[in-house]
Amino acid sequence: MSDKPIYVTQPYLPPLEEFIPYLEQIWESKFLTNGGPFHEQLEKALCEFLGIEHIALFTNGTIALVTALQALRITGEVITTPYSFVATSHSLLWNGIRPVFVDIDPNTLNLDPEKIEAAITPQTTAIMPVHCYGHPCNVDAIQKIADNYNLKVIYDAAHAFGVQDAQGSILRHGDLSVLSFHATKVFNTFEGGAIVCPDAKTKLRIDQLKNFGYVNEITVVAPGINGKMSEFNSAFGLLQLQHIDKALSKRKEIDKVYRDRLKGVPGIRCMNKAGEKVANYSYFPVLVEPDYPISRDELNQKLKGIGIHPRRYFYPLISNYPMYRGLPSANRENLPLATIAAQRVLCLPIYPDLNLSVVEEITTFIKLLTKQTISSTEHHR
Ligand SMILES: *Cc1c(COP(=O)(O)O)cnc(C)c1O
Repeated sequence: MSDKPIYVTQPYLPPLEEFIPYLEQIWESKFLTNGGPFHEQLEKALCEFLGIEHIALFTNGTIALVTALQALRITGEVITTPYSFVATSHSLLWNGIRPVFVDIDPNTLNLDPEKIEAAITPQTTAIMPVHCYGHPCNVDAIQKIADNYNLKVIYDAAHAFGVQDAQGSILRHGDLSVLSFHATKVFNTFEGGAIVCPDAKTKLRIDQLKNFGYVNEITVVAPGINGKMSEFNSAFGLLQLQHIDKALSKRKEIDKVYRDRLKGVPGIRCMNKAGEKVANYSYFPVLVEPDYPISRDELNQKLKGIGIHPRRYFYPLISNYPMYRGLPSANRENLPLATIAAQRVLCLPIYPDLNLSVVEEITTFIKLLTKQTISSTEHHR
């Protein structure tokens, strides 16, 4: 198929020579971190691009999640999804908070709002949903529950860069939204992250928390952390942002080829749009259902055999990791739909530099397996 292995994603890198002037500026100013000029410019540029008012940049998405919980003084129990990257729940443990897992909606694979209320206890202080694969959560239903029970909502929006619903950025929902700019994400700064905040006062508190709790040269008001994004990463983000539209449209093309060519393949279900007006095509998950001739894991192995490396995002469920599986809410019976999703989902390669011919070969291979296996079973009869 291809000489080099094809991975599920590959970071998008602008031409190196375009980055040199940024580096020269850093070398000249000797401003390396602590809210330098590139940091400030990137915050402005991201607010404009994303259509939001306030953002605080971070060294990575996980420290941003940990800090978001601190900023809102969240304690006790937080309701969250087991169907996510492990950092979602880890950010709770780092704050001494107990995660309470609630099952997902089988169509969106996001936290099912209908199951949240039953999990609320007197210790519950917040809900931490994830816009999984960039598909928006049912934000209205979640907000209604939060209002009724006086809970905060922090969205793990690590997959949702640039996603919009009919009214605007998906990041305006909840009390805070957290982004990741890790190398594997749609928009990357090598490592990086951010908290989207509703007002300047919240941003100020978050900016203090990410800088050890310093308010001024001699005053420290909280046990803050070092979560600052450096000038190197900020500069790279500014450059990336100049290429983001092109990168997103390439992803959109790939998404379309997958959808067109996998349509009607028995046992392969592509996920539908979940209410986004503008999608970011960050992932291409398919569900390998029981009527596909082989299991998800077998398909995964067969694809690896031809040099294609999809990923089983998200398997295992967070609730199955050792530090979580003892929790009452981690019980399989409590999470039947998340358990099924984790058994069936396979994320196929999608990234701007992925050749459309490779996408065509992947889909042909997936289709061919249905025919081959059917004819071989017929042969045995
Ligand atoms: C990537 C990711 C994170 C963590 O972000 P980092 O920047 O890698 O720390 C958190 N949650 C989800 C859902 C992610 O995909």
